[in-house]
Amino acid sequence: MSVITLENVHKSFGALKVLDGVSFSVNKGEVFAIIGRSGSGKSTALRCIDRLERIDQGRIRVCGHEVSDPGLDLRQLRLDVGIVFQSYNLFPHLTAAENIALAPRHSKGKTRAEAKELTERVLAQVGLSDKAGSYPEQLSGGQQQRVAIARSLAMEPQVMLFDEVTSALDPQLTGEVLKVMADLAAGGMTMVLVTHEMSFARNVATTTLFMHKGRVWEQGGPGMFDRPETAELQQFLGSGL
Ligand code: ADP
Ligand code: MG
Repeated sequence: MSVITLENVHKSFGALKVLDGVSFSVNKGEVFAIIGRSGSGKSTALRCIDRLERIDQGRIRVCGHEVSDPGLDLRQLRLDVGIVFQSYNLFPHLTAAENIALAPRHSKGKTRAEAKELTERVLAQVGLSDKAGSYPEQLSGGQQQRVAIARSLAMEPQVMLFDEVTSALDPQLTGEVLKVMADLAAGGMTMVLVTHEMSFARNVATTTLFMHKGRVWEQGGPGMFDRPETAELQQFLGSGL
């Protein structure tokens, strides 16, 4: 069952064509990785899924929502889709637990007790049960990113989008964040992630899509990494990125 579908999506910023007829489909429970050079349109594709960007042409459906429809219920879409970025954007004056409980309390009307239970559950999920009372500045970058993931999980989304969530982290901290994501994947979460972590894409992703010049250049399972069909993907994989 497809939970995300893009059909012939076009998007330009002024004269710059960023998405040039992008189509792909993500099934429930899939871990869908998007790779490609900087500027190839990966983040824009992800942002269009959550309607952080509007598309010029084409169609996007996410969890039954017609994202490109003017009558879209944006609030409901955002409840179904969690998104995590490279920058964690935690509130510095709130503890980890308070950061996490905020949206469920205010956007989902959870009671204090429900929010507390949720917070405990998602903190355990990202391996930070002992950091509930810590402020962001008392946490490492990797821990802050795990809190940001927990904050998204606390909204109980149907799908999670990740945009280069480990790019700002050193290798050791990257590993702990990738482990949390691999656990989520193993738990059946539907995930779309833009990543430079080729080994994660190869080992965890069910499908990997290579974007080039705003197009879906190549798409496949883990075997794609051993047998790239296009010269562009061959070159990309060989460049050590
Ligand atoms: P990627 O994530 O693959 O690096 P992006 O989707 O972020 O690529 O960007 C694709 C192209 O679109 C880049 O040339 C970028 O500079 C441009 N771009 C992205 N967002 C905007 C924006 N809001 N306004 C103008 N240009 C943008
Ligand atoms: Mg990007």
